[in-house]
Amino acid sequence: MQCLSDRMKILDVWVDPVDMEQALDRVQSFVDYGTRPHAVFAVNPEKNFSVPKDPVLHDIFRSADLLIPDGIGVVLAARFLHGVRMTRVPGVELMERICRMASCRGYGIFLYGAKEAVNDKASRVLQERYPGLVVAGRSNGYVAERDMPALIHRINASGAQILFLALGSPRQEKWFASHAASLTHIRVCQGIGGTLDTIAGTVRRAPRLWCDCNAEWFYRLLKEPSRIRRQRVLPLFALRLMGELLSEAMKPRRVPAASRGM
Ligand code: UDP
Repeated sequence: MQCLSDRMKILDVWVDPVDMEQALDRVQSFVDYGTRPHAVFAVNPEKNFSVPKDPVLHDIFRSADLLIPDGIGVVLAARFLHGVRMTRVPGVELMERICRMASCRGYGIFLYGAKEAVNDKASRVLQERYPGLVVAGRSNGYVAERDMPALIHRINASGAQILFLALGSPRQEKWFASHAASLTHIRVCQGIGGTLDTIAGTVRRAPRLWCDCNAEWFYRLLKEPSRIRRQRVLPLFALRLMGELLSEAMKPRRVPAASRGM
């Protein structure tokens, strides 16, 4: 199993160099041996710009238990900056693999986030897709702050070990930081952003070919042009990466003493 010391820094955020199977192993051991909620968050180029701007959020990411390489930009950056070959672990695929594992191992899940109809539909779709999956509870993502203690009570009373937070980023990461200490049974909390919309079918995921070509981000941009504001960070990310590589290349190299000239 990977340990936290393998965690690597990609410009201003961190990522754990895990593949899908290693990520699942980590999740399983969090559930089987953990004694507290463990945070599983996704890292992509967008986060490289949004997270460091907010010191609290930066700290939340730094102390997460598993940071998955969700975006292709992060995978490429790891290769160029650290010479490490990683594959993407898309959050949406990890979530579905966790659901399959939960249905086989009898872990209960709780779905918190998205609009009521989306949350309800996604819950039914998941139960059809993974027979035996226990959706121990669910809630839409529009709970007022004054009703939060009641929601926490419902999550705890459900007995679920896995909580999927579908509130979008950074809302879901901040929710985890504020409420993790009150979660008595939850052992894994995965931030899944808009994944329930994809599962419910209100938002279409890119066809397989686009995903295989690592062009899922471009497909989403074509479908939702309003995302341009968020995705304009992609060329900035590439520029920063090039800058970092250039400054590495320009650093004077130490020549071993034996090979130095007289
Ligand atoms: N959402 C929510 N509560 C809120 C705001 C947003 O549950 O107060 C949900 C929203 O309905 C959507 C998801 O959070 O399902 C955000 O999806 P988006 O694709 O923006 O998130 P990302 O994956 O980009 O973080």
